[in-house]
This record gives sequence, C-alpha cells and structure tokens, in this order.
Amino acid sequence: MYKIAVAGTGYVGLVAGVCFAEMGHQVTCVDIDQSKIEIMKSGISPIYEADLQDLMVKNYHAGRLDYTTDYQSAYKDADAIFIGVGTPEQPDGSANLSYIATVARQIAESVEKDCLVVVKSTVPVGTNDKVEQFIQDFLINDVRVEVASNPEFLAQGSAVHDTLHAERIIIGTESKWAEELLQDLYKPFNLPVVSVNRRSAEMIKYASNDFLALKISYMNDIANLCELVGADIQDVAKGMSFDERIGSKFLNAGIGFGGSCFPKDTKALDYLAKQNGYELKTVQAAIEVNKEQKTMLYKKASRRLITFNGLKVAVLGLTFKPGTDDLREAASLENVPLLLEQGADIYAFDPVGAENFARVHPEGQHGKGSITYVSTVQDALKEANVCFVFTEWGEVKEITPTMYKELMRTPLVYDGRNIYNVDEMREAQVEYHSIGRQSVERHSMKESVGLELQSARS
Ligand code: NAD
Repeated sequence: MYKIAVAGTGYVGLVAGVCFAEMGHQVTCVDIDQSKIEIMKSGISPIYEADLQDLMVKNYHAGRLDYTTDYQSAYKDADAIFIGVGTPEQPDGSANLSYIATVARQIAESVEKDCLVVVKSTVPVGTNDKVEQFIQDFLINDVRVEVASNPEFLAQGSAVHDTLHAERIIIGTESKWAEELLQDLYKPFNLPVVSVNRRSAEMIKYASNDFLALKISYMNDIANLCELVGADIQDVAKGMSFDERIGSKFLNAGIGFGGSCFPKDTKALDYLAKQNGYELKTVQAAIEVNKEQKTMLYKKASRRLITFNGLKVAVLGLTFKPGTDDLREAASLENVPLLLEQGADIYAFDPVGAENFARVHPEGQHGKGSITYVSTVQDALKEANVCFVFTEWGEVKEITPTMYKELMRTPLVYDGRNIYNVDEMREAQVEYHSIGRQSVERHSMKESVGLELQSARS
C-alpha cells in the first residue's frame, strides 16, 4: 500500500484517485476548487461517470480516500504524487502548461520525503524533463524527487471501467527506482504495463489520440464522398471492419470529434511538429476535415430551408458524446449559436448536459432566436419544423421513425450520428438527412406515396 496524492479532481485525477483507493492505496485528492471538495466530501461526484460516485462513497467511508484543498499536507509525505490537472489549448494551438507549473511549484515547496511525481496529464514531449528540473529548482527540503510519465487513456463515459480494465498502462521513467515504484503501485490492477522512457511515453499518448482522430476524420471524409457517389458509409465501414488490420472501432462517420482531448491534442502535436521544423500533414488534414464536419448538417439544412427564423428547431443531444455531461468542443456549441443567430426557436433535450449548456446559453430569448430546455425528446419534437441530432443518447435512439412523423409539424430530420435506418425513415415518410448516406428527400417520398396510391388503384 502506498500513500498517494492526486493533483486535480477532473475526469483523469478523480477517477485515478478513486481507482487507486479501490486497489487499496491511501489516496488524497487535491483540488483548488473548494466547492468541488465540499461536494465530494458529501458523497457526490462533481462529474457524471458510471460507477464513480459509488466507488467514491465506498472508499471514503473505508478511510482510503479523502479530498482537500490543503496541498501541503497532502504532498508532504506522499510516496507518489499524480498530476491530473488540465492542459487546455491556447489560441496558437499549443498546450497551456501553467496549471502543471503551479502544481510543480506547490510540490517543490511541500515535499518532505523522497517521492515520485507522476504526470498523468497530456503534455507535449519534453515537458516531464522540464517539470523535473522545475521542481528541483524550487525544492525547499533536501529530498529526492523524480518525475515519471504515465499518460491516461480513459474515455469519458466509461472512465472507471477503462481505468480498472485498461488495455495497457504506459509508464515512462528515467530510472530503475521510478520504474519499479510505478510497476509496484499498479500491481494490484493486474494489467499489462509497457515501460518506456519519458519522452516515448509522452509521444505514445499524442500518437494514439491523433491516430484515432485521424481515423474519424478519414471516415468523415469518405462519408462525404459516399454521399456524392451514391455509396453508403455504414455499409462501407462494415465491409472495412472485417479487415483485422483496420479493426472495427472508430469507423463511425458523424459530425466530427469533440471532447476535451482530440481537438486540443491534434493541435498540440501539430504545434510541436512545427516548433521542430516539421509539417505533420496527416494530422493537419484531420483537424481541417473535423472543422468542416462540425457544421455539415447546419449547412445542409440552410440550403434546404429558406430561413430558420421563427421555426421550432428540436435539438437532440448537447454533450460531445453520450455517457458524459462534458460539453467541451461539442458539435452543439458550434451549431446552436448559428441557429440562434438565424432566429430559430430551439427546444433542446439532453439527459445530463442541459444544465451545463444553459450556463453558456441560458434559457430564453437570444436576439431573434430563443432556447428552451425540455426534459423529454417528445417535448422537443412536438410541433417542431426541423430536428437536429447531435448526440446519440439512448433516449434519442429509442425514438421511432413513426414518432418523428407523428410528433413533428414537418418531419425533417438531420441526424449527425447516423442512428436511424434510412429505409425505415422513408417508410415512415420522414425527410431524413444523415452523414455519408443517401438522403430521404421530400420529392422521393411523394413519389413513393404516389406509387402506393397508384398500386392501390390498379
Ligand atoms: P479537468 O479540467 O476535468 O480537471 C482539472 C482539475 O484540476 C480541475 O478540477 C481544476 O480545478 C484542478 N486544478 C487546477 N489547478 C490545480 C492545482 N494547482 N492543484 C490541484 N488541482 C488543480 O481535466 P481532465 O479532463 O481530467 O484532464 C486532465 C488532463 O488529462 C489533461 O491534460 C487531459 O488532456 C488529460 N486527459 C483527459 C482525458 C479525458 O477524457 N478528460 C483523458 C485522457 C487524458
């Protein structure tokens, strides 16, 4: 059992802290946000993640897990201090390392015994070297402090599961001592550990995330071409998925990737490459395609409708993906302002993300347009002129084509997640546009209605 401190109680820090406690370590989670600490102490998780709250309560009551803003007491005698603070994007695309620097300084001024500092945050290659130097420069006590890289691969929405059942743990160290300590600390998880040097560990994280981002953008690019040449991206993806070299994951076309990682990690790697005099053309292409893709449906709808002014627009899903209340880089954040600007009266549904979204776009009038938050998909769809699907929540997937037809004033659906069957939408007489598949156009529906009438007469 080790004494562990974790800096930052976001998706990465809190989940890591809770899982280390679950594995029997003594964990103190540190955050600068006092209100977050109070909430966690009262047994409530500040973020929505399956199983997280139960494990927080269980380990807190077992005395293995605590929360504090008092970093000094948490860091001073820890065997290992994990850093899980944010590394957000700066306007030039580079990663903002100021939160990391603050924690490094706080560690340097607090530690009273030898300890390993483990950077879990996603940081540009070479940052761990700098953090180690920085800590050593500011150390107050005569102790040994080393820095290791341990990038995180969890996905929001399944963060606890991904941590307890990770496909691999990457540890990047520069000494046997650091390597053995990290190996030992992760032993109770019983998971495959890949041990490399620090810079390789830092690069593994970016290379992995950017590869997945590339895969998504590639499929979106192909999807756009499918629409033009009469192919169906879902059939194409299915056919591709049987090839083991390609694999079946991350082949879904849609309205682009969002979240707190892919957008900033693609830009940060591109920035790092440029800094080193190299053009990372593949990653640049992924960024470019994604930017276009985010408003693909809005552009399609704008061409189809004369105006959004005065139209009731149902928006289904606000978060960047299901299973999380995180809105960072969500497609909704790009599209909703465009719709409001055009005078749309938006009725938005999201099972967990509405509260966060309302902080950015409060309920009520916004210029010519307005936004109202509703608690059911049906309320959003009732009498709507047009519907946009941005997130594939279970509640949205459950809506049948017939319900669109019956609930909406004009059944016109733009589905950014390809969750419905095109033929079923056509049969239900729903005008349906999605990504990389043939649209169900209004005139084609009329034709099929006409044919049905003809055959009924003959
Ligand atoms: P987050 O924004 O959700 O949380 C960061 C937390 O750090 C906040 O609660 C903030 O108050 C706290 N903090 C800031 N300064 C602090 C300090 N000096 N001491 C203690 N706490 C402090 O961040 P996140 O989404 O968990 O991401 C953290 C890092 O992990 C980023 O580098 C990110 O790229 C990486 N990462 C994120 C994910 C993900 O899915 N979110 C997955 C893998 C890696």
